[in-house]
Amino acid sequence: MTAKLIKGTEIREQILDEIAAEVEEIKAKHGVVPGLVTILVGENPASISYVTLKIKTAHRLGFKEVQDNQSDDIPEADLLALIDKYNNDDSINGILVQLPLPKHIDDKKVLNAIDPDKDVDGFHPVNVGRLMIGGDEVKFPPCTPAGIQEMIIRSGTETKGAEVVVVGRSNIVGKPIANMMLQKGMGANSTVTIVHTGTKDLKAHCLRADILIVAAGVPGLVKPEWIKSGACVIDVGVNRVGEKVSEKTGKKIAILKGDVDFDAAKEIAGAITPVPGGVGPMTITMLMKNTLKSLKFKLGLM
Ligand code: NAP
Repeated sequence: MTAKLIKGTEIREQILDEIAAEVEEIKAKHGVVPGLVTILVGENPASISYVTLKIKTAHRLGFKEVQDNQSDDIPEADLLALIDKYNNDDSINGILVQLPLPKHIDDKKVLNAIDPDKDVDGFHPVNVGRLMIGGDEVKFPPCTPAGIQEMIIRSGTETKGAEVVVVGRSNIVGKPIANMMLQKGMGANSTVTIVHTGTKDLKAHCLRADILIVAAGVPGLVKPEWIKSGACVIDVGVNRVGEKVSEKTGKKIAILKGDVDFDAAKEIAGAITPVPGGVGPMTITMLMKNTLKSLKFKLGLM
């Protein structure tokens, strides 16, 4: 059996087209567009490239995009004042502070200063609580888990009553996706197990999974013999395992591997995400979706 590939690159394009169409409609009816501010502190190359991609995507969708770059010696109090300014700016619906922040700044304090109704990353404790309650309470599901759920839904995988096993319990992936999949609602209503380094028999748990979501950060952790025949496998892991020269640009690029032994797993799974090109492209897409949602909440459209 060769599994169906769940391609994040294709699903991203579908969702971005849907967002762009909604932005056009809202602009025509209400004369406003979603506003996103990206706050970048310092010049960390990885952060610059993430922020650049976010800005490019926001422009493509017709958002108002404010790029606020600050030097890495900005005092914490000034950064908090900046967030307060955007909290009170009516044209801004989403505030994104790119992590990591310099050591002298307490990132918890900074993230908690963002107005929960503009916290499009979904990391504020208020939004974590809303996610836990579920249903209409949920405003901004965190972006990577939201992308994972969207991929499961769009791959046509049945989630109601499915055994979902999540490998990893981080606050940004494992815990929230587990919480989302157990809610009573569309694309969820599953029976969920979370496994981690304290789990006694990882293989036995994974083998029960109709949907196996792996977010451990350990290349090739999940072996083919851990996968139930026909299961839907979502590999969140992005692990740099070396470097190669790009055929396109001639530049050195990272060789990326997931947490699942992909080549062998695809012969057993029913559907599987590749790495790269699987979950990765979904995160920024869902950030844009959350920013649009923020405007829709404000306009009373949701
Ligand atoms: P994390 O904070 O390091 O958490 C990893 C989790 O996996 C922990 O709960 C850990 O268990 C568990 N784990 C690690 N090794 C394990 C093992 N051998 N057996 C069982 N459980 C194990 O990582 P994260 O932030 O969730 O990220 C996980 C992976 O997803 C990384 O490769 C990251 O790069 C990737 N990621 C991708 C995206 C994206 O594509 N957009 C976004 C976020 C993350 P303990 O709690 O017991 O230590």
